[in-house]
Amino acid sequence: MGPSSLDTPLVYLKGVGPHRAELLKKELGIQTYGDLLAYYPFRYIDRTRFYKIAETTADLPYVQILVRLKSFELIGEGRKKRLLAQAIDDTGEIELVWFQGISWVQKHLVLNQVYVIFGKVNFFNAKAQMAHPEIELYQKNALSRGNLKLQPVYSTTEKLKQHALDAKGIQKLTANVLDSCLQEVINLLPEYVIQQYKLVPRAQALYQIHFPSNAEDLRVAQNTLKYEELFQIQFRMLRAKLIRTQKFKGHIFDTVGEKFNRFYHELLPFPLTNAQKRVVKEIRTDTQRGSQMNRLVQGDVGSGKTVVALMTMLLAVDNGFQACLMAPTEILATQHYLSLKALLKDDFVSIALLTGSTKKRERAKIAAMLESGELSILIGTHALIEDSVQFKNLGLAVIDEQHRFGVEQRAKLWRKNFIPPHVLVMTATPIPRTLAMTLYGDLDVSVIDELPAGRKPIETLHLFESQRLRMFGFMKREIAKGRQVYMVYPLIQESAKLDLKNLLDGVETMRHEFPLPKYQISIVHGQLKADEKEFEMQRFVKGQTHIMVATTVIEVGVNVPNASVMVIENAERFGLSQLHQLRGRVGRGAEQSYCILMSGDKLSKDGRTRLETMVKSSDGFEIAEIDLQLRGPGNIEGKEQSGVMELKLADLAMDQHILAEARKTVIKIFEEDPQLEKPEHQCLKILLLKSDTGITLNKIS
Ligand code: ADP
Ligand code: MG
Repeated sequence: MGPSSLDTPLVYLKGVGPHRAELLKKELGIQTYGDLLAYYPFRYIDRTRFYKIAETTADLPYVQILVRLKSFELIGEGRKKRLLAQAIDDTGEIELVWFQGISWVQKHLVLNQVYVIFGKVNFFNAKAQMAHPEIELYQKNALSRGNLKLQPVYSTTEKLKQHALDAKGIQKLTANVLDSCLQEVINLLPEYVIQQYKLVPRAQALYQIHFPSNAEDLRVAQNTLKYEELFQIQFRMLRAKLIRTQKFKGHIFDTVGEKFNRFYHELLPFPLTNAQKRVVKEIRTDTQRGSQMNRLVQGDVGSGKTVVALMTMLLAVDNGFQACLMAPTEILATQHYLSLKALLKDDFVSIALLTGSTKKRERAKIAAMLESGELSILIGTHALIEDSVQFKNLGLAVIDEQHRFGVEQRAKLWRKNFIPPHVLVMTATPIPRTLAMTLYGDLDVSVIDELPAGRKPIETLHLFESQRLRMFGFMKREIAKGRQVYMVYPLIQESAKLDLKNLLDGVETMRHEFPLPKYQISIVHGQLKADEKEFEMQRFVKGQTHIMVATTVIEVGVNVPNASVMVIENAERFGLSQLHQLRGRVGRGAEQSYCILMSGDKLSKDGRTRLETMVKSSDGFEIAEIDLQLRGPGNIEGKEQSGVMELKLADLAMDQHILAEARKTVIKIFEEDPQLEKPEHQCLKILLLKSDTGITLNKIS
């Protein structure tokens, strides 16, 4: 493939000199003709039709209306001065408002003339209003020229505007590029895919997205480019996966040995759920195939992922390999270590904990045992991926709460061996299917979609600040029954000090209601040293304190079955999935558990929806789906590695069906033509040339 004129630097484009080229690069990152074509409008102004006043609603975008000006009225003084105009059509009345440029408006606009007004309609007391409309005298012949269009609007910056690169300026440049090299735009998608999904050729899509002839053509153009975007991500991910399975041999765990059996038949204190059994089976299949396993296990909080991880690790050990389990925080790693030790009862498997605060001497001992192979299972934090940690024969890496580990970090583990270990990733953050496909497109996904039997659903209620005493009363009754209570305060990084103050104030208020020595309180927050934190946590774990007041450090993993109440302060400040995670801290014992969401009396619309969702639903996947709708994918951790950030048009919440179709297509292509030898797939080879997706898997050897 030779150089395309789409790669031409912008400085050569008509209307762009060196100075503007530099500005475009600096301000918008646009450097070539192609970049400019990929700089899509962020909205369109509908100039294709006139609305009637009676038809307008507050959720319409910008509209144009034909009106007759009826009266002007100047009101207010000084800075509050504004000009109101009443305008009518045959369906109603609309008020026009100007705060600035008043004398210009007064001088140029004429009563009883017909004008085209253009802008956003708002409603005050059910009366339509438009502030600072674009306004021009209505000319019949302008209509007949057929220049009514969907006008693209590009986002731009103050600096660019100063150099005549406002939305219109950018549009002009885009037109120049389209004029000079549209014919060079080639299709990325195979012809039959374009046909099958009713898309259009790439050149046409690019033209239409910048200069739509009508709403329908625009929709098809957008669909095409969205499809292409999502297709590319899936193509790269699934190809990486293909290469990985072809290239990387995997250790074969074909023995179910003494340790696995001993645990399963003698120590496991409960029957596995069907979902757990299914996942263990999937893992067994993966690990006998001879290629590397990369499996994501999704399971709601409390679904029992830890046991699945442990059984997989025992399988590795039975086959002569070492295993490690990596957790995102020290508290979690410690908790895993303790609960695995408890599950294993005695020392028939050697297991150790390595974190940032492991003492030097202990560290050295662990290192020696790792290298000699004496140590079978290592639990820890990021400390595990330090270069000083060398396994003798790592066969399995389990990563808990993977979204906090990047692909890079995963890869780092693998370099430690010649044959990479199997990787099992566990996440308690249920991720909507669409997002899982995009974020973890290179992983196989298992779902534990069943909670252990006998769990009582957690009762969730939402109380306002004015009902605080009721909440305190409830806490006291639960504590009197021998239960324990979590009380969580939000933590926002930027104002950690303020949040801490919030928490401490809260504790002080509580003290009146919960006096010493009758009520013992643990306080845990980010400003404590690790050992202080640990001490306070342990007091609660051992049942020495009744209430644990904490910031979100307890979000994941902490397991205290006797705790039956989770109070979340300022619940409206938390995201949905975080609320769900927190709620999962209770309901782990036999008792009925409760989650109380405390909020201020005033709530935003989103805040209200979040709290209502929590009260209504306990299904992590449903909650995750609603979360995605509310927040968009922008806030979901892990997205940086996945290409989601690069999405220009597609919206993972809105365009799930396109993603599903694109993925299906890519899977089929790789099944039928893995080497891309068919003539109709030659167009895809350009995707092989394009560099990195952030997936480093195929670069390891
Ligand atoms: P998570 O999936 O959130 O990591 P855990 O693995 O911590 O969940 O399990 C939550 C609790 O449920 C633990 O106390 C665990 O021992 C228990 N558990 C796990 N599997 C089962 C099961 N099949 N039956 C009963 N209890 C189970
Ligand atoms: Mg867990």
